[in-house]
Amino acid sequence: MSTESCIFCQIVAGNAPADVLHRDELVVAFRDIRQAAPTHILIVPARHVRSLMDLRPGDDGLLGHMFAVAQELAVQEKMGTRGYRVVVNTGPDGGQTVFHLHLHLLGGRRMHWPPG
Ligand code: 5GP
Ligand code: ZN
Repeated sequence: MSTESCIFCQIVAGNAPADVLHRDELVVAFRDIRQAAPTHILIVPARHVRSLMDLRPGDDGLLGHMFAVAQELAVQEKMGTRGYRVVVNTGPDGGQTVFHLHLHLLGGRRMHWPPG
């Protein structure tokens, strides 16, 4: 998929609206348009990466940084003490619908297990 047709690339580029909470050279974080929990934030690489399956050797730093941003936003959203959930849906069976890698950061309520 080209970056022109990828909604998350459009948000990264500032060409589509989003409630952006964090932006740096590696990642952008914004609120999910369909809130599945009181706090529901997506953390995406600035570069188009289709899914976890498309990470390359050398992307460890990117992945680590995505989780560091998740931790920072969790504290900012006051979820640091009670906890939260980070999810990466991968491929059709994993429930991925937008094929630009993203962490879902979910919290503000008690999560259920196992997920559906
Ligand atoms: P997935 O199902 O791929 O794991 O998650 C994709 C997420 O992206 C969904 O939770 C969906 O609500 C969200 N989403 C899809 N389109 C947009 C959009 O245009 N803006 C925002 N902020 N979120 C979106
Ligand atoms: Zn993209």
